[in-house]
Amino acid sequence: MGINVALDGPSGAGKSTIAKKIAARLKYVYVDTGALYRSIAYYVISKGVDLKDKQALIASLPEIDISLEYRDGSQHVLVNGEDVSDKIRTPEISMGASKVSAVPEVRTFLFDLQRDIAKKNNIIMDGRDIGTVVLPDADVKIFLTASAEERANRRFKELQEKGDLSTYEQVLADINQRDYNDIHRDIAPLRKADNAIEVDSTSMTLDETVEHIAKLIEEKTGAPAPREKKERKPMLDFSGIEPVKRGKKLNPVRMFFYNLLRYIVIGMLKLWFNLKFEGKENVPKDGSNIFASNHRSYLDPVLICLPTRVPNTFMAKEELFQTNKFFVWLIKVFGAFPVSRGKGDMGAINMSFEKLNSGRNLVIFPEGTRSLDGKVGRGKTGVALIAAVAQCPVIPVGINFEGKLKFRRKIVVRFGKPIDPEQLKVTTPGPKELKLLRTTIMDSITELVH
Ligand code: C5P
Repeated sequence: MGINVALDGPSGAGKSTIAKKIAARLKYVYVDTGALYRSIAYYVISKGVDLKDKQALIASLPEIDISLEYRDGSQHVLVNGEDVSDKIRTPEISMGASKVSAVPEVRTFLFDLQRDIAKKNNIIMDGRDIGTVVLPDADVKIFLTASAEERANRRFKELQEKGDLSTYEQVLADINQRDYNDIHRDIAPLRKADNAIEVDSTSMTLDETVEHIAKLIEEKTGAPAPREKKERKPMLDFSGIEPVKRGKKLNPVRMFFYNLLRYIVIGMLKLWFNLKFEGKENVPKDGSNIFASNHRSYLDPVLICLPTRVPNTFMAKEELFQTNKFFVWLIKVFGAFPVSRGKGDMGAINMSFEKLNSGRNLVIFPEGTRSLDGKVGRGKTGVALIAAVAQCPVIPVGINFEGKLKFRRKIVVRFGKPIDPEQLKVTTPGPKELKLLRTTIMDSITELVH
């Protein structure tokens, strides 16, 4: 029997993020039991079962085979062999999980699976009833809370990052509803085990909470909690990549249809918004250019496409490719390809070069995420890297509007003077040179935002 740590608490308290960090640090296995309930919700919802129909739900259980796999330190949930780890993170599945978890047969169904894992390993298991029902003899029991508003705030930011369009009010209502469901259900309701230590993370940062809980575990189990080691990022290897060969002509038929579509969209958007373009003379007539823009809204890629006669491609965060199928199809048609942020995604960088070499333009939002208050952020270094190696002109873009996008809102899209590839040339693309380049690009964008 390994060391068992039970981490319970309401939705959005940060249990999974914290448990993952602690597991990595203590070399424990992290078991996310919410994912098990989510998997059941995913299976029955995909099958078209009405969640109010308990009999149909119970009848589906024998068809479900759930297993957990651990790859690169993260938990993957497989439902009948299919890895559903990403698909179960939508608001619809969250609410579904909250509903199916109130059914006693579902809880019994998952009970043995959870206990088996705990028996064989040192684990930190997060959920609602781990300290009270699943592992009543756990070595350490933590009950993690935070105010509903703070939890909604954190979840809202997380969903926004994923491209989800829910509003803060919807997220808060969701959290309150799930709290109510979890606390008031007859079986295994959410409550603090008598011998659990309560940790309120409302005014703590993530790191502070991790530190605090790791210390508590250390005190209780007598095992010293090793300090977190900072991982060094491997340097990317650009030795095989040649500067982009510009001047490639694109298929005229595709160009014709692209431009036809462009004029239709310009017409539609001009009717809907008060749309102005400034500095159109700075937009090159040919392709293989990099447009680097501030990021204000989901419409930005379209706004940048409108004055460009050559089709653009753009890097979009990989989370967007895990959403609605139609949406994914649409963004792909408009040239989006996925990038995993913060990881130095070599695949996405290679793809950028491929697109630029094919004669298309590349749009990059160096800030990585939308700025809701309109201020231009620091920008990631990826844009400098690509520009330095590709040796294509970088055209800075400033997208300007006040508040939210709504009917007749004034939008001004400004294109600045192209930054000459000569200016971007760096002989040794080390961190210092790239930082300088990034600053040059970000300063040009900032000048266009006013
Ligand atoms: O933690 P997470 O939000 O992923 O959990 C999804 C849902 O599963 C929760 O709203 C809760 O109702 C249910 N759950 C549960 N018991 C657990 C873990 C999760 O009832 N041990």
